[in-house]
Parts: sequence; structure tokens; C-alpha cells
Amino acid sequence: MSRSSNDNQLDTCESAWLQHDATVYSALDRPLTPELLVQRVLPQRAIRMIGPWCFLDHFGPIDAQHYSLFDVAPHPHIGLQTITWLLSGQLMHLDSLGYEQSLRPGQLNLMTAGRGISHAEVAEQRPQTALHGLQLWCALPPAHEETEPRFDHYPTVPQFSLGQCSATLITGSYITPERRWHSPALSFTPHLALLLEANLADTISLQLKNEFEYGIYVLQGTLTVDTTTIPAHHLLSLGSQRNELTITLSADCTILILGGEPFAQPVKIWWNFVSASQQRVEQAQRDWEVGHPRFGEVHRYRSYHR
Ligand code: MN
Repeated sequence: MSRSSNDNQLDTCESAWLQHDATVYSALDRPLTPELLVQRVLPQRAIRMIGPWCFLDHFGPIDAQHYSLFDVAPHPHIGLQTITWLLSGQLMHLDSLGYEQSLRPGQLNLMTAGRGISHAEVAEQRPQTALHGLQLWCALPPAHEETEPRFDHYPTVPQFSLGQCSATLITGSYITPERRWHSPALSFTPHLALLLEANLADTISLQLKNEFEYGIYVLQGTLTVDTTTIPAHHLLSLGSQRNELTITLSADCTILILGGEPFAQPVKIWWNFVSASQQRVEQAQRDWEVGHPRFGEVHRYRSYHR
């Protein structure tokens, strides 16, 4: 956000960025399982998507003796990619393609549902640290909705410094003055998910793309943009048409920056099914109810379930 002499006509800095459709939303407490509440950031009635991002849950920290509360039984998906990222702890991913993949901080689990898959996610058996993480859904663009289902595990993704912050590029690309960074994550539409962690308070300038919509979710600490301070468990939606943004992170702040090219139409989301087409999500629901083979089976869930 660059400021021009015209800005002097505005009452406050805040009104300058409100003109750019910036809005703050509180995350909502939602049950992931009957015993476990998570912070549901997307979707909300007032904000459905940021670029292709159509779902964001923030879970934990869940201390080690309550780990077993994180137990998501086998369920189906279509039309999206799930991204699971941990700040601490361990999870196990199981799916109908036969993958059994443990996940630890710094690693990325990416499941491309395409025309149909099912999976389960459970906490590992002997935790050493609290479980704390994110699950995101990236909608597949209509031309790729029916792609072959697959699962990819990435042991590392790019990590670099932005000012004094530590940056982790979970998906997509980001340009710093030194170089252009690319996440290895399989992608079907231009987007990014960039995690920033500050030990010390710092002010940095983000390089943005005019054509991307952006949002910033505050996991912990506080984020300040112009005169507005956004507390933890809140989402700052920035809209599009920005090429830079100056942000201030408090000490011990963690934020997730989401961006991407907006979809022509918001996707339809019904339960765990995502599609541009209402008919496709309804068909997926009927197929799941009758045990259609498109969703396969998660065979080893019982051996992890307690
Ligand atoms: Mn799922």
C-alpha cells in the first residue's frame, strides 16, 4: 500500500485501506469431532473464498494427553486439494489409495481429491509435544475437478527470511529481492500459502500480485496494518489490486498469508465435497451414501483408531 499526497484528504490511514475492501473476520469455534473444537476461518457466511482457498481450520495446541481427541474417521472428498501443515506434534494420514504417511512440522501432506478419494487423519500414538496445525482446502479449477486422485508428501518446502521473520512457502511462489521461491507442491491454479513466524516484533513489506486476492490469518500474537491491529484467531481479508503491503508482527507472532487468482464463481461446498457444479456435489453425496467405488476404502484406520 503506497501512500500518495491525495491520502492527506482522508481522515485516517484506516479509511485508506478500507477503500480497498479490507475487512477483519473472527474465526468461528466449530466441532471437528464431537469432543474437539477448532477455529474455522473459512468459509464463513460473509467470506467464501480467498483466490482458490475455500476452507481453513486452525487446530490446537492440543496437549499430549488429549491427543487422541484428534481422530477424523474416514470420509470422502471431491474437487479440492487438502493441505495439512503442523506447527508442532505428529499426525498420521491414511487414504483409499493405500497411503499411510506420518506428518511432522516442516513437512507437507497434500491430497488431491479430484474425482474422488477418502481419507482419515489421526494423532500418532506416543506424542512428545502439543498438536498444533492447519488444514486448508484449495479448490480445483473447473477444468481440473475430475483429475485423477493422488497423494503427495513433501519432506521439505522453501524456508527463507523476510526481515527478521522466518518464512515458509507451503504452496505456490513468492519473490524476494534475492530470488523467486517455488514450493514443490502440486498446483492447478496460481496461488500461495506463506507462513511467517516472528520471534521479535518486526515490520516488513510484502510483495503482492495485483491480480491475486489476499487474506492474512493471525494464528498467534498480533498483526498491525496501518492503524488497525488484528488479534489472534482473526482473518484480514485484503481483496485484490495491491502490489505491496507493509505489515507489523508482534513478538512471537505467527501469520498465514493466503493468496490466489479469484475463481469466476464461488465453488459449491456441501459437507466435504467441492465443485463449480451443484449437480456434481449432490451426485458425490449420493455415491458416498451407497458406497460407490469412486471413493475406495481406508483399510488401516482401525489399527490407528483408539
Ligand atoms: Mn478430509
